[in-house]
Amino acid sequence: MRLEKKIALVTGGARGIGFAIAKRLASEGAILVIADINEQGAREAAEALGSEKSLGIAVNVADEVSVNAMIRTIVDHYGRIDILVNNAGIGGNTPFLDLRLEEWNRTISINLTGAFLVAQACARVMAEQGSGKIINIASLSGQRGGHGRAAYGAAKAGLELLTKVMAVELSEFGINVNNIAPGAIETEMAKFAHDRSTRAAYNYLIPMTRYGTPEEIADAALFLSSEESNYIQGHTLNVDGGFREAGLMFRGSKNLGQTDQP
Ligand code: NAP
Repeated sequence: MRLEKKIALVTGGARGIGFAIAKRLASEGAILVIADINEQGAREAAEALGSEKSLGIAVNVADEVSVNAMIRTIVDHYGRIDILVNNAGIGGNTPFLDLRLEEWNRTISINLTGAFLVAQACARVMAEQGSGKIINIASLSGQRGGHGRAAYGAAKAGLELLTKVMAVELSEFGINVNNIAPGAIETEMAKFAHDRSTRAAYNYLIPMTRYGTPEEIADAALFLSSEESNYIQGHTLNVDGGFREAGLMFRGSKNLGQTDQP
């Protein structure tokens, strides 16, 4: 029970990676607040955790008023916030030449500005406490130039840099700030954004030749939420099956057209 009685907030936790993280933290004794734009989904997810103390609430992370209301609810309920997993996000796969300003603004406002708003509001509470753990969910798309990832990748790259600045400024308040950068993870978002040829390309480029699972991201989030990571600060932990580090991969006859994964 590494997180016994810790109050943990997971944004976008109604499903996918966020829900898997919430489940993992709860399994180590944390009390969870699942906040999502899908209020019903957030409530059901909190109930599914089986802890009477867990809470499912609505938030639009891109809206400052909504974020502040969420933080007030949490502080009124529990009096503190020990862990924030800044996970809410939307995908996007529009080629650069076709990308419209509206989609660019929407992606940046949820994936980058939203993460900033939630992190700042939580960090103010944590600074008063003198402790806290913030984990931002970035992406491999923020590190490499993926096709169709102009807005999404720019937002995630910005989040990585924001994490470093936060780490520098928040160390004195006892707050750890780190990123997890997932590679290709099997979730609803991936189902929407990855067609058959994208999947084949990923499976070829990833040394482990498969997508990751939300549970594998959750294991990393547990580590960065626990005291076992106390001296890790401003770091990006890639959980990507080796995707970023891979160079030439010779696989004999197994080439791009012949992956056996769908
Ligand atoms: P997902 O299955 O689409 O879940 C995201 C959740 O966030 C959904 O419940 C969604 O609600 C919620 N959400 C969307 N906009 C929101 C807003 N403005 N305020 C509050 N909640 C909002 O996505 P996922 O695949 O689990 O991804 C989770 C995180 O991991 C994202 O930050 C994503 O960028 C990152 N990531 C994912 C992958 C991947 O391969 N899946 C790879 C790298 C990074 P609705 O469903 O109602 O929209």
